[in-house]
Amino acid sequence: MAELYQLRCRECGKLSGNAPRSFCEDCFSPLEVTYDYDALKKSFRRDALAARPLNIWRYAELLPLPENFRPSLPVGGTPLVPAPRLAKDWGLANLYIKNDAVCFPTLSFKDRVVAVALATAREFGFHTVGCSSTGNLANAVAAQAVRSGLHAWIFIPADLEPAKILATAVYGARIARIAGNYDHVSRLCAQIADKFHWGLVNVNLRPYYAEGSKTHGFEIAEQLGWRLPDNVVVPMAGGSLITKIAKAFRELVHIGWVEPKPVRFFGAQADGCSPISTAVKRNLARFEPQKPNTIARSLAIGNPADGPYAIKEIRESGGWAEDATDAEIVAAIRKLAVTEGIFTETAGGVTSAAAEKLVRQGRIGRNETTVLCITGNGLKTTDALTGEFPAEEAIAPRLDAFEAYLEGRLAGAATAT
Ligand SMILES: *Cc1c(COP(=O)(O)O)cnc(C)c1O
Ligand SMILES: [Zn+2]
Repeated sequence: MAELYQLRCRECGKLSGNAPRSFCEDCFSPLEVTYDYDALKKSFRRDALAARPLNIWRYAELLPLPENFRPSLPVGGTPLVPAPRLAKDWGLANLYIKNDAVCFPTLSFKDRVVAVALATAREFGFHTVGCSSTGNLANAVAAQAVRSGLHAWIFIPADLEPAKILATAVYGARIARIAGNYDHVSRLCAQIADKFHWGLVNVNLRPYYAEGSKTHGFEIAEQLGWRLPDNVVVPMAGGSLITKIAKAFRELVHIGWVEPKPVRFFGAQADGCSPISTAVKRNLARFEPQKPNTIARSLAIGNPADGPYAIKEIRESGGWAEDATDAEIVAAIRKLAVTEGIFTETAGGVTSAAAEKLVRQGRIGRNETTVLCITGNGLKTTDALTGEFPAEEAIAPRLDAFEAYLEGRLAGAATAT
């Protein structure tokens, strides 16, 4: 292979160089990036990382980056933290949270995919980039386009959370609100990418974009001391992240950085948009598209592009999938906050609620190492918690007033228990 990386058809295996396209010319199956792993095995050593900062660029050799690319942002490098209190609540001994709620610069794992997609956008000669988005991708494209000196066009369903629209508009991106759900927006964007010479990160740049998700997996393995976990629980929208964490683990095994080990992949979706988890739970050969109706808008993709691959990955790994109702999502967001001090958005509520169900079903074992992938920040979806914390009456700024108030609170707490 002359190039260090290139596109390869996921079904027929045909190699097709590097270009802004996402489907095989021969069989129309999706493309993914492949590398010269045998060369990497010899040339890319784990010790090389010691001198590199903790962000996604430390894995540059396993990312599709143009030769002269210079990163301008320290994206990723998020904490992997033990979650002992949540583990105790669930009856587990070894639970970790991979916390992309604090990913730089826009507080979701989408910063990873966008960083890689925009690295290639310039190489392909695009001056305008964009995406169809359920929110977080919009924030990430808008912010990083500014850093890369690119124009941004963002396409969103009209009913997106106000905080996510505001956190896109603030970067000066042009926003097209589409009267429809994400799947309508997505179809429109496929036509736009064909018609205009724009680099839409999850359309014509999709294979490169998807590679960014691998860094979430690389970091998990490295932060566990170059070991793979037994279980990962991953939220699914289009189903890309879960398949790319699996690809990341396979690549690390392939180049000899971690010992081979079976890892079970568990997928999490919202009850109101669960095409992938439903297919897994009902043992269907393929998923049936759904019309989304859930507070977890960042996961509300009714016709997931990588759905078939996510289902396959989950099944072949011996994992499973679960889904969570809106009430369960809210309860799980609150539980994660009060047990581990992590405030996640609705997608994280989905992941945590689904994980708890999987534990209760005995699918995740007590002494196994389990990683919850928390992918977005709670400050972006505060409307999901509206009414959960009614404001208390204001107290006069006097000690006696506070003492009277405290007495009332303590009495209230005593009758409540
Ligand atoms: C997009 C998104 C996901 C899922 O991503 P896919 O790769 O499309 O499955 C998970 N969590 C959050 C917060 C997201 O924004
Ligand atoms: Zn093909």
